[in-house]
Amino acid sequence: MPTILITGGAGFIGSHLCKKLLESGDKVICLDNFFTGSKKNIKHLLADNNFLLIEHDIIEPYFTQEKIDQIYNLACPASPIHYQFNSIRTVKANTVGVINMLGLAKLHGARILQASTSEIYGDPTEHPQKESYWGNVNSIGPRACYDEGKRVAETLFFDYHRKHGLEIRVARIFNTYGENMAENDGRVVSNFITQALLNKDITIYGDGAQTRSFCHVSDLADGLIKLMGRQGFTGPVNLGNPVELTMKQIAEKIIALTGSKSKIVYQPLPKDDPRKRRPDITLAKEKLNWQPKVKLDDGLKKTIGYFREIIK
Ligand code: NAD
Ligand code: UDP
Repeated sequence: MPTILITGGAGFIGSHLCKKLLESGDKVICLDNFFTGSKKNIKHLLADNNFLLIEHDIIEPYFTQEKIDQIYNLACPASPIHYQFNSIRTVKANTVGVINMLGLAKLHGARILQASTSEIYGDPTEHPQKESYWGNVNSIGPRACYDEGKRVAETLFFDYHRKHGLEIRVARIFNTYGENMAENDGRVVSNFITQALLNKDITIYGDGAQTRSFCHVSDLADGLIKLMGRQGFTGPVNLGNPVELTMKQIAEKIIALTGSKSKIVYQPLPKDDPRKRRPDITLAKEKLNWQPKVKLDDGLKKTIGYFREIIK
């Protein structure tokens, strides 16, 4: 039975990953500092003898006697409001924290996967985005702590691979949504759903013409597990759903699916907000035999059901 360490395991994506890996019989150690994650996301796993929860910040080194076979490194706030709250800590998590986890992988001879992001493409001038695209990132803007942090994390992964022969996997995750997103997460799907359920104004930033492509979390977690298991392929590989929508379209869809009385209001667009984003997933199909299965409407209905429960 392999022992798998998941940093950020109490967060949105991490909690789904913990559950899926436990279900397939693995032993899971969840490491989290609870900055944006929550015990609520993993409380149903605590009774499982194969699950261990450790409160720890990856900015500090982590040592264990237990032999670790695989590490999924997810520890980093993902929502713009949270990663900008303490931007210097965000950079630290993606540099010092990543070095700590790569060092741990080296010590244990473990395979390590990095949760990278479509943000490394910045405000893309190529559309859809392929892995070969180098990106268009403002290195001094408010999103840079995350975007540049994730870029240097990829650099560190590949340097450890080249210098130390570490077995690495790099996933570039595109916008993901679903159950276990925090109510105060601040990202678009959770904002629009909570606003719609409470019949509050739906806050579109800018004119709503910017696009994103949304992947349900269960598909995403399957993609990460496939990537970790794939022999002889480091990535980077895009994981996301290529169905692209404007923010106005997603707002209207959520209003319709919730039967809400909410009205759309327009607020200023945050600085450096990417205008469009859609993954080219040819490589994921080829190398991982992976593509999303959950249709947007079905995934949104599940997510709406989840939020109905938590905000009642
Ligand atoms: P999230 O904020 O819900 O989860 C992040 C988790 O990491 C939380 O549990 C948080 O408490 C923990 N954490 C943060 N800093 C930490 C630190 N220094 N030490 C230990 N734990 C720490 O976000 P998420 O959406 O689940 O994202 C998980 C990962 O996937 C992140 O690395 C994110 O950058 C990446 N990602 C997510 C998306 C997405 O759309 N959800 C897209 C691209 C990349
Ligand atoms: N957005 C919005 N209203 C909100 C939250 C976000 O219009 O209440 C927009 C945001 O400006 C961006 C898109 O939705 O254009 C996706 O934002 P999110 O923070 O979810 O993810 P990211 O910008 O990191 O892709």
